[in-house]
Amino acid sequence: VAGLLSGKRALVMGVANDHSIAWGCAKALAQAGAEIAFTYQGDALAKRVRPLAESVGSDLVLPCDVEDLASVDAVFAALKERWGGLDLFVHSIGFSNKNELKGRYADTTRENFARTLLISAFSFTESAKRAAELMGPGGAMITLTYGGATRVMPNYNVMGVAKAALEASVRYLAADFGPQGVRVNAISAGPVRTLAGAGISDARLMYEHQRRHAPLRRPITIEDVGGSALYLLSDLSSGVTGEVHFVDAGFNVISMPRTESLKV
Ligand code: NAD
Repeated sequence: VAGLLSGKRALVMGVANDHSIAWGCAKALAQAGAEIAFTYQGDALAKRVRPLAESVGSDLVLPCDVEDLASVDAVFAALKERWGGLDLFVHSIGFSNKNELKGRYADTTRENFARTLLISAFSFTESAKRAAELMGPGGAMITLTYGGATRVMPNYNVMGVAKAALEASVRYLAADFGPQGVRVNAISAGPVRTLAGAGISDARLMYEHQRRHAPLRRPITIEDVGGSALYLLSDLSSGVTGEVHFVDAGFNVISMPRTESLKV
């Protein structure tokens, strides 16, 4: 992959630490020769993100909390000033109150519904619009979603509803930006042990269930996601837009666990 993305300028939003899916994407982009800008949420994460950025040769590390529109605008203004344009964008941000990532979806509160949808779905639309304004033909962006968007996963609740909105956004944004030669896709990752993942009640059991029953019989790594991100962000996927691409060891194709695994 060396040189696949040389000369490309990429924005990666959503690195919290070296377990973050966004970090798996950033490593793959850096290996392929892209220049990367990072954002971090809040001062506490700056200490973690700066050294990671430095390890891939980046000194462009900007604060951004997507609940604060001014901080989103400031990121794109800084990119415009530093680079004059942008080629690639990775959005890997999600949040919901963990008290509602257990029990019934029906008990979701109005306040947490609005906040979850704003951070986990609308933030992609808002930042994608600004990214596309800086992109020319060959521009590409991805966001991260989960199979709970289309099928019920225990405890995923309002995050599943937000991911459904996010996946629909990918299709509408692909239609909006397609005429300017900019592509928009999503990666639907299997369970990965991250900060955000740990907020879901019984996440360990979901992880274990996927490991036992997915066709590849193993969990997904952030390097698995990084490889697929490289494909979706490079010209290797030049004819692909508006897609949700599963990187889940095949789990989504399984309807029922193997009968031998159910026998007691
Ligand atoms: P993570 O905790 O490493 O990353 C989540 C990121 O979201 C963090 O960097 C956090 O700072 C950021 N974030 C949250 N609220 C924000 C806000 N208001 N403003 C700016 N940033 C904010 O966890 P992750 O698992 O790498 O999550 C990345 C994405 O991948 C999320 O969209 C998540 O839903 C998705 N995803 C995760 C899994 C999994 O199993 N971990 C599976 C499929 C999809």
